Amino acid sequence: MKKNFVLIIGLLFLFAVSCNNSTQEQNELEKNNVELENKIEVLKITDIVCAECEKLIKVYPDFISSIENNYLIWKDGTKMFFDDGKKKSFEQLIDKPDIQDMFFFTYSTGIIDTPKINFDPGRIRNEEFFKKMYGNNKTEVYNNLETVIWLPNTLNKKIKVSKINGISQKIQAISNQLDSLPHLHKYIDNMGGTFNWRKISGTQRLSAHSFGIAIDINVNHSNYWKWTKRKQDDIIYYKNKIPLELIEIFEKHGFIWGGRWYHYDSMHFEYRPELL
Ligand SMILES: [Zn+2]
Repeated sequence: MKKNFVLIIGLLFLFAVSCNNSTQEQNELEKNNVELENKIEVLKITDIVCAECEKLIKVYPDFISSIENNYLIWKDGTKMFFDDGKKKSFEQLIDKPDIQDMFFFTYSTGIIDTPKINFDPGRIRNEEFFKKMYGNNKTEVYNNLETVIWLPNTLNKKIKVSKINGISQKIQAISNQLDSLPHLHKYIDNMGGTFNWRKISGTQRLSAHSFGIAIDINVNHSNYWKWTKRKQDDIIYYKNKIPLELIEIFEKHGFIWGGRWYHYDSMHFEYRPELL
């Protein structure tokens, strides 16, 4: 009887110990799972950030060295905040974007589609980012401009664009290629302009033309969203006459086209290789 009693107590003890162990194991397992999920979450965030980081480092090798702890590190040691973590409305994205916000809309090449409402890939620009590369003011940007001969064998017109990031060489390559394609000349023989230190009309934001990285082709064959916006219902109707063949020549050299924006500007090309 006494023996049985000891045996039962012993078994109960073992059961209690094993229950305790399994609870501990369970707790350990849950803790590990939480840690793993956190790690995956961190990895996901890092991955998303790094796709954009690596693009910036790749396309601006003269300027950007790395992105660490949410800071963009420039080759001269300057640090700029990469992602302020704020959720922004469309207006806030346009007015006060951080560097990561510039990737908010994905720019697509290929056939020309009517852009969806507010879909403006490339219209979001962090001004400090461009000032750092191309010049802080009109004089600094001007000192970085270089002359390009536009359509050297036919029009032979001098235009000035930034030499930073090889932009002037790229525009010259585009110009040389277009020179041998006369069916496209009516779109590009009466240039709208390149460098112009100015604010975008009705805003406090500097135009991409301020940095010498943008080029407007023939205004007479172009369309601009403000020209078609109906006052009574605020609707913008998409219009374009620029052929895809011309757009693709610019895109191949790192220039995005303003005709792919909801707030379209079909004469406008600007050097934004990080979006291509
Ligand atoms: Zn323009």
